[in-house]
Amino acid sequence: MRGIDRRGCLFLGPLVLAGASGFGALWPALGERLSRWLAWYQDATPPQLVIRVPDRPVRGKVTVVLEVTDEQGWEIEWFELDGLPLPAVAGEHVIDTTTLPDGLHVLAASARDHARAGNRAQVQATLLSRNHPPILALDPASTSVGQGQTLVIRVRSSVPVALSGTFAGRSLVFVSDGQQSWALVGIDAMTRPGPRPLRLTAVDELGNRSELNAEVRVLPVAYPNEEVWLPPATSGLIGSTVNAREIARLDALFAQVSPQPRWSGPFVRPVSCPIASDFATGRSYNGGPITSRHWGTDFDCPVGTPVFAPAPGTVVLVEPLAVRGLAVILDHGVGVYSCYYHLSRADVHPGQEVTVGTQLALSGATGAVTGPHLHWEIRVLGEAVDPLAWTQQPFPGTGKWD
Ligand SMILES: [Zn+2]
Repeated sequence: MRGIDRRGCLFLGPLVLAGASGFGALWPALGERLSRWLAWYQDATPPQLVIRVPDRPVRGKVTVVLEVTDEQGWEIEWFELDGLPLPAVAGEHVIDTTTLPDGLHVLAASARDHARAGNRAQVQATLLSRNHPPILALDPASTSVGQGQTLVIRVRSSVPVALSGTFAGRSLVFVSDGQQSWALVGIDAMTRPGPRPLRLTAVDELGNRSELNAEVRVLPVAYPNEEVWLPPATSGLIGSTVNAREIARLDALFAQVSPQPRWSGPFVRPVSCPIASDFATGRSYNGGPITSRHWGTDFDCPVGTPVFAPAPGTVVLVEPLAVRGLAVILDHGVGVYSCYYHLSRADVHPGQEVTVGTQLALSGATGAVTGPHLHWEIRVLGEAVDPLAWTQQPFPGTGKWD
């Protein structure tokens, strides 16, 4: 008996323990089932249904995501694009927008949960697609330009684009205002007349690209010629290596293109003295052949005449040069520079910001000159252009596109 008892105890002990723990586990399981049933019975919350789409315009193949969550379980009833069915499954969907017209598209979905009430959710999302290249048009004003003039290239595009391009092989710098862009090119007065190629490439924010090829005709302009007699001390400077080095140095400066234009409206004449020598006058020095054209406009100013900034800009050079004498140069942005030569005194320093009417200097007779005068020059992408044209007409600048 004792032995049996002992055995009984040995057997029953673990059984009682197992039974007690079994009952203990059963009650919470029932409770859990009941509360789940109650949740199923009472649930009035529709599933969380979301269509995730890119938040910017798209092109080509694009992935959208259909997401559903609901504690009672769920099913997607339908998923549509522009009213046409897509697979009614959650997860990623790849849509080829090249098969759709450009524009706004509507994605819509409906899902139902598995609660007693069958709660339903419906959502919509929109997708803007564009797969066609932007349409470009040149402003008619861009079709011809005179020798020594400033060419304005104006482009309109069907959507905002980043424009790049070349004119006669030279890179252009475009300024854009939405769907309108412009670039300036200086035409050397010695350029042979005739057509020149303009090649433009436009890329919209989606990477859709289009090209425009056109011809711009350079028209002849009848500029006068004049003989200049320089004293022996300075005449040697004109064709010298000193002058060549000076030109190379200035060309390197003019090649720096700051991105934004600084002016709005026409430039103001830097002095009110009469004109002594026009822009692009053919020059023969001391009886020689005409080898160059005057790169600026000379004003007949006595030494000491105040010289004023014609437009806002940054002073980029204040320096005595061998041929050009004491020089001041302003950067007006997008490759437009104005230059003041043969000065007697400078009143600004490099890096200084100037505005219209800031006194830059006093005119003088320094460098290779026949007498006191102010030489005023405007460079556009490195080429000297008619400076007076900049005082007579507005070129596109910081203001609104006209
Ligand atoms: Zn001059």
